[in-house]
Amino acid sequence: MKTDLIPYYKNSPQGLEAEEILRSCVHCGFCTATCPTYQELNDERDGPRGRIYLIKNLLEGGEVTEKTRTHLDRCLTCRSCETTCPSGVKYGRLLDFGRAEVEKKLDRPFKEKMLRWGLRQVLPYKQRFGVLLKTGQLLRAVLPKEIKSKIPKKRIAHNRWPAQHHNRVMLMLAGCAQPAATPNTNVAASRVFDKLGITLVEENRAGCCGALSYHLGAHEEGLDFMRRNIDAWWPAIESGAEAIVMTASGCGAMVQDYGHALRHDTDYATKAKKISELTKDIGEVLIAEDLSLLPVGHSTEKIAVHCPCTLQHAMQQADNVEEILTKAGFALSRTKDKHMCCGSAGSYSILQPQLSKKLLAKKIEALSVANPERIVTSNIGCQLHLETQSKVPVQHWIELLDKE
Ligand code: SF4
Ligand code: SF4
Repeated sequence: MKTDLIPYYKNSPQGLEAEEILRSCVHCGFCTATCPTYQELNDERDGPRGRIYLIKNLLEGGEVTEKTRTHLDRCLTCRSCETTCPSGVKYGRLLDFGRAEVEKKLDRPFKEKMLRWGLRQVLPYKQRFGVLLKTGQLLRAVLPKEIKSKIPKKRIAHNRWPAQHHNRVMLMLAGCAQPAATPNTNVAASRVFDKLGITLVEENRAGCCGALSYHLGAHEEGLDFMRRNIDAWWPAIESGAEAIVMTASGCGAMVQDYGHALRHDTDYATKAKKISELTKDIGEVLIAEDLSLLPVGHSTEKIAVHCPCTLQHAMQQADNVEEILTKAGFALSRTKDKHMCCGSAGSYSILQPQLSKKLLAKKIEALSVANPERIVTSNIGCQLHLETQSKVPVQHWIELLDKE
């Protein structure tokens, strides 16, 4: 694809990268076949190829209209198109550039601005999110049906963190929503790793991975979250922590990208690259360990595995969870359309509720073709979103392995 980017943008680091990505697209359109929003809306501008054209146009100085913004807003950032693309087009990065430019050039209506600002003020902060969640859970009975359905049910951690300390140490990200909404996930992870002779450490000063701000076009804010996490983890890395384990693939995908996001930051580039290299989804870490040390599942319960987009398309780890659970003795239930997004996609279910609902209904149907008794996933956002419509319990898969 020939490009002629606006002069002020052309030679900037973003401009150079955007140009390279734009030029790698050969317009074949294969990606549209696996794009959830194109499948739903049947409009070229709601598919990856059309959005690439829209971004090209705006980076070349074309008019930025509300229509352009609407089509970019509707993208889930699921990156299914990247998995399908035969030319290796890095669509997700291009979309981040496009969205940031749209935010600069086109003022949003006040209501939209406030909603986005509000999300950025609450979701990345575990204390604020915890207070909001508790308030919502307390007031659930009197809230309108639409809001009520979005409030996660109250959960507690079933067990305690292991007491013993091993020579092998890995860091684990506590995250922002997970400690309040699904506190058992990281406790279960620490107990499973304990059986394998590994201590998992949550570094308190680390927090939101930065994905929410970054993908909402607030790049500097996202980069600041990244720098704070790097500072928090660095002493443990220097002391020999083997890996940074991610129990939420949404965060994992972002942290694996720190090296790229901060590559022009002279103070952080080297550390960010190291952090990205050490960051692994929990399934990727476990599959390399001796799983015979874990108690065998022996469950006859039929389990449907939902693989989040961030795990299969961004981290490219589509099969680990199914392999681990099968090895551990669990009976997996058949599913279909594994590549399709559930509609959670960070803040998408709040910002694009209608589309998100349609995608959720399709995903629940795809996960339920063989009548599972439980659904498991690898990302808190998907977990909470799926359980708003699921008739069977939804949880993180690591909890299944946390047996005495
Ligand atoms: S992004 Fe890839 S699959 Fe889609 S049109 Fe461009 S080259 Fe083809
Ligand atoms: S990221 Fe997902 S929704 Fe967006 S264009 Fe690609 S496939 Fe479509």
